[in-house]
Amino acid sequence: MIQHPNQKTIKKEASFAGIGLHTGNSSSLKFIPAPVNTGVIFIRKDLPGKPNIPATIDHVVGVVRGTTLGINGAQIHTVEHICSALLGLGIDNLLIEVDANEPPVADGSAKPFVEVLLSSGLLEQDQPKKILELIEPVIYKANETEIRIEPARNFSIHCQLIFNHPLIGKQEKFFQIDTETYIREIAPARTFCFDYEVEALKRKGLARGGSLDNAVVVGLDRIYNKEKKLRFEDEFVRHKILDFMGDFFLLGKTVLGKIDAIKVGHGHNINFVKELTKVGELAHGK
Ligand code: ZN
Repeated sequence: MIQHPNQKTIKKEASFAGIGLHTGNSSSLKFIPAPVNTGVIFIRKDLPGKPNIPATIDHVVGVVRGTTLGINGAQIHTVEHICSALLGLGIDNLLIEVDANEPPVADGSAKPFVEVLLSSGLLEQDQPKKILELIEPVIYKANETEIRIEPARNFSIHCQLIFNHPLIGKQEKFFQIDTETYIREIAPARTFCFDYEVEALKRKGLARGGSLDNAVVVGLDRIYNKEKKLRFEDEFVRHKILDFMGDFFLLGKTVLGKIDAIKVGHGHNINFVKELTKVGELAHGK
């Protein structure tokens, strides 16, 4: 019998402020330690009654350019970079108070969240993590997208993205994921978009807070950001893994498995996690 690791929260409260990527609203959040089996809950403290929005797959209400959670009309947009940091650090229980409908985008990666959570300190709790035990592969396919997970002894992700673009093309990456690898190789990878998309996104009311400080903007032959360079040569596929992990976190359980993900995006990620939920129910219902 494998000894499963224990649940984790943080040692003390920690705060973070900035502007939201899509809404452009200024926003601050507070991470608050939570008891075992709480899960992660966003609290919209700016709304009447301070609605609690659990970070779980059944509260996903939107997947356009980011993952949105909601309950009874109260929403929180673009949660994936925070959720990714939580999966990367193995945090299970946390309250996240926000005073706007989107958390701060920070630098477009998960690194600032990782740093603030680590500065608060991680606290191991006295109950094991909730585990989903895979008994067979789960495969999700839609058009050119394929996401599969096979049972394994550890958690790994192989991701492939293909953009018909001279600066990106085909990128592939494999990580066996542990906390150190996540912090070093995945968390710093920033979100990206193409220069020709920026105006269209803004017309749709998206990316209003987007700037060269918080997204890699890719032109046909250049990277527009101030430093004019990427943090990793393959930063794009690393960010896809970061986003995928954020969506995967909404499963609410730890899974050991080998993931293969081709041409992913939030909508596909969420559909895949829903498939996984069904399998988990079946496995435990026997
Ligand atoms: Zn992202």
